[in-house]
Amino acid sequence: MVKVGIIGGSGLDDPKILKNTKEVKFDTPYGSPTSLLTCGTIDGVDVVIIARHGRDHSIFPSKVNFRANIWALKEQGCTHILASTAVGSLREEIAPGHLVFPNQFIDHTRKRETTFFDEDVVVHTPMAEPFCQNLIDLLALSAGELNLTYHKNKTVITIEGPRFSTKAESHMFRSWNADVINMSTVPEVVLAREKKIHYAAIAMSTDYDCWHEEEEPVTWEMILGTMKKNSGNVIKLFLTVIPRIKEYDDICVK
Ligand SMILES: [Zn+2]
Repeated sequence: MVKVGIIGGSGLDDPKILKNTKEVKFDTPYGSPTSLLTCGTIDGVDVVIIARHGRDHSIFPSKVNFRANIWALKEQGCTHILASTAVGSLREEIAPGHLVFPNQFIDHTRKRETTFFDEDVVVHTPMAEPFCQNLIDLLALSAGELNLTYHKNKTVITIEGPRFSTKAESHMFRSWNADVINMSTVPEVVLAREKKIHYAAIAMSTDYDCWHEEEEPVTWEMILGTMKKNSGNVIKLFLTVIPRIKEYDDICVK
C-alpha cells in the first residue's frame, strides 16, 4: 500500500495541500520529529507531512532531528518520501526558479547523526544510487507536463551550514562536479535508504551561491524570495506526481 511522506523545506514549511487532515503528535526513540505530523490524502493517496525546520521555520539545519523525522514516517507506514529543498545553483544553466531532481549527493556535513545503525550491529548500507530513480523519472515526466523547467539526475552537495560557502569553496564544489548545494539532503536521504523508503528530492534553485561573478552572492532573503515566488510550482508538482506514485508503485524494486 502506497503512502507518501512529504518533508517540507524552506518556503514550504506548512503546505496546505491535504484533504481530511488530522494532526498527529508522534514520539520516537530519537526524540520528537521537527513538527507535528499532518496526515491526510491527495486524490485518495495517504500522505504524511513533516516540516523539516518546524512550522515556524525555527530549527537550524544542524539541529534538525533527521532520525526522528524518518523514523516517524517509517512508523506511519510511508513507502515513499518526496522532500522539498531550496538549493543554490553551481551551474549557469540551472537558473533561479528551476527545479532539480538529484540522483547523487556529496556529503560535506560535519556534525550530524547519519545512521540508525550506530549501536549493536555493524551495517554498511550500499549508497551507490541513493535516490529512487523511478521517482526521479516520474517527477521529470510530471514537471514536463506542467511546463516547469527542470534538471534531472544532478549531484547535490550538502554542507553543514548555517553559514554559506566562501568563493573558494563554491569553486571547489563546482570542480567536484556538484551541480547544486544545500544544507539538508544529507543525512535525510541516507536515513530513508536505511529504512528502505523510496526517496526523491524536489530541489528549487533559488540563487547562484557565490561563484558567479555577475550575480549577487546568496543571502537568506534571496532564498526566501525565490521560494515564495515559486513554491506554487512545487505544490502543483506534489499534486500531480503523488496520485501517479500509486499507479507506478509496482515498478519500484522492493
Ligand atoms: Zn524506488
